[in-house]
Amino acid sequence: MKPRVGVLALQGGFAAHAAILHSLGARVDEIRKPQQLASIDALVIPGGESTTMSMLLERSGLLGPLSERLEAGMGVLGTCAGMILLAAEVVDGRPDQHCLGLVDIAVRRNAYGTQIESFEADIAVDGLDAPFHAVFIRAPAVERVGAGVDVLARHGDRPVLCRSGPATVAAFHPELSNDTRLHTRFLAGL
Ligand code: GLN
Repeated sequence: MKPRVGVLALQGGFAAHAAILHSLGARVDEIRKPQQLASIDALVIPGGESTTMSMLLERSGLLGPLSERLEAGMGVLGTCAGMILLAAEVVDGRPDQHCLGLVDIAVRRNAYGTQIESFEADIAVDGLDAPFHAVFIRAPAVERVGAGVDVLARHGDRPVLCRSGPATVAAFHPELSNDTRLHTRFLAGL
């Protein structure tokens, strides 16, 4: 059975994730309404702007139902803004910004500064034979990692790929590297 994977499509870089997942054989649903959550096996929360996505989650009525599905153990991949939304604690967020609190990490928004907003780096990822070329765009920095969170990759000292149970979060954009290994691994874990 092909897994049915939702891509949260309220804002941000959902289309590139959807295209990769589709190319890997998943059935893909762009999620914009609470009713759509019932039919998916897993979810990707893309990069974009976490404050805007938070507001749209609230307005669309998705926030509560999504939180319930995630608490019940649905597989989820969050990239960049998706990492921020899934974190337990956000530093430099908006006061009214929601945290889904699924991964016990603290992340600082826009931690790499506003001048050098974007960079790329080859990072070693646990379980991958060759480095992954990671694209960082106004990326968050992980400042605290709680018990039960595995760090799968670092850039310098900073964790940039973490896993906690069924949730994987990346500070970078794996959908922009023309490298499907992390999406393949996500689907294989479902
Ligand atoms: N800086 C953005 C935020 O705070 C995240 C950037 C991204 O997703 N590329 O949500």
